[in-house]
Amino acid sequence: MPRHETTRLRHDTRRRTLTVASIEPLGASMRRLVFTAPELADFVSAAPDDHIKLFFPMPDGGTAMRDFTPRRFDRAACALTIDFALHEAGPATAWAAAAQVGDRLDIGGPRGSVVVPDDFDWYLLIGDETALPAIGRRVEEARPAVPVITLAVVNGTADEQQFASAADWRGHWVHRAGVGTDDAALLLAALGAITLPQGEGYIWIAAETNVARALRHDVETRLGHPRAWLKAAGYWTRGHADAPDKTLDG
Ligand SMILES: Cc1cc2nc3c(=O)[nH]c(=O)nc-3n(C[C@H](O)[C@H](O)[C@H](O)COP(=O)(O)OP(=O)(O)OC[C@H]3O[C@@H](n4cnc5c(N)ncnc54)[C@H](O)[C@@H]3O)c2cc1C
Repeated sequence: MPRHETTRLRHDTRRRTLTVASIEPLGASMRRLVFTAPELADFVSAAPDDHIKLFFPMPDGGTAMRDFTPRRFDRAACALTIDFALHEAGPATAWAAAAQVGDRLDIGGPRGSVVVPDDFDWYLLIGDETALPAIGRRVEEARPAVPVITLAVVNGTADEQQFASAADWRGHWVHRAGVGTDDAALLLAALGAITLPQGEGYIWIAAETNVARALRHDVETRLGHPRAWLKAAGYWTRGHADAPDKTLDG
């Protein structure tokens, strides 16, 4: 197989009703929920940045759909972990902040997976809290000793995460300290100070849409990184519910 070939997989999508089995704080700004359901027995998530749809009941009887990452899946226990970044408002954050063990939630997907090969010389993963589930999963699933550099912006030290990995993981954290969530300056400055390893690397970016776009521009123009070895996504857009503009790859 040629080097660096991504594989696209399609999965059967169906709606599943899950039950909250446990809840724990994840730093100061996130909440980790583990869900169980017998229906998870045939759940498939083949890539760290897969996404599932979560269906939140609204007061008017309708449903709001939001995208989340399957942070961890334990097939033997039929247990799916989802990490929620908590922020000011929105159906997902409100539901996650109030969730209790025993609550139920419907999910759909993942519809498909884009599997990035395990043959790059290094990986660079950049993002904010919403990207940490995918970043953490990719760090944990990376092959032994491969350099994986992560760069994440969080509110403060309490929100830095640890990942258990056999990879050569180097975690860089920057703290907002009052800088707006749609301002890319902190991440751009920190990225500029990182010396990347030699060889062919894969870069993954997910953050607030303006931040992700600025980072992608920097990676393409200043670093001259090939577009084919780069994925950038706006995981949310400041001031917009249910960010309309998720992929920046067009
Ligand atoms: C592929 C994919 C995977 C994702 N995985 C995860 C995940 O695993 N965990 C996770 O927490 N999020 C994840 N997200 C992001 C999540 O879908 C959005 O943050 C979503 O908007 C949250 O919905 P909500 O109902 O809380 O807020 P919305 O109703 O969508 O928005 C309400 C307001 O809150 C603002 N807002 C939305 N998100 C944030 C935020 N993170 N910080 C500050 N303000 C915000 C919006 O700009 C808007 O003004 C993912 C997004 C994508 C596209």
